[in-house]
Amino acid sequence: MSIPTIAFDADDTLWHNETLFAVTSQQIGALLAPYADPENLHRRLVETERRNLRLFGYGVKGFTLSMIESAIEVSEGRVSAREIQEILEAGKKLLAHPIELLPQVRESLESLAKTYNLMMITKGDLFHQESRIAMSGLADLFTAVEIVSEKNSDTYRKILRRYHLDAQDFVMVGNSVKSDILPVLEVSGRAIHIPYEITWELEVAELGDPDPSRCRRLQSIGQVAEVLKEFFQP
Ligand SMILES: [Mg+2]
Repeated sequence: MSIPTIAFDADDTLWHNETLFAVTSQQIGALLAPYADPENLHRRLVETERRNLRLFGYGVKGFTLSMIESAIEVSEGRVSAREIQEILEAGKKLLAHPIELLPQVRESLESLAKTYNLMMITKGDLFHQESRIAMSGLADLFTAVEIVSEKNSDTYRKILRRYHLDAQDFVMVGNSVKSDILPVLEVSGRAIHIPYEITWELEVAELGDPDPSRCRRLQSIGQVAEVLKEFFQP
């Protein structure tokens, strides 16, 4: 029997991410309050991000550009150069923000790495994700790191093929039902969902009632080892 591969999402699975975006959104909401109420701005931002995903992809840079576009829209062109500069600064701050690992991440990965091949599959801006992986100090625990532009069934199929993995021996662990769970089940892999405290609007999806022999939902990464034992018991 080959050694199973356990792949981990990074943002909001291994380290905090969405909370940082939420705090930045709130700060920009306060900055632009003279032009629009923060809820309206937020709605506009989500729409703009959705529209721009195809062009900008995921990550802080796309978020920053979409925020500027939304600011111009809600202010009907009245937003000042100084205010746009503050939005840019907020984006740069997000890019430079230190990595904060979620609880039990390091010890869980260290222990799992003794039994399984660990892989990281994350989407987002290549340059930023590479620097965060380096900053996280976790890179050595993974036999492979994949930074992809989208996580759909095609992406997972390609990764399985590239690494000569059998879907039966592949488990994805992540916080996003849409990106980490549903497409993996679709290619006959197994998945472990660990929800994060908040979910980005563009990642929201329903999991339904999946077969427990193929998919589980856990509170913490510390419980993953136990589920893997069940998944791979002889
Ligand atoms: Mg994630």
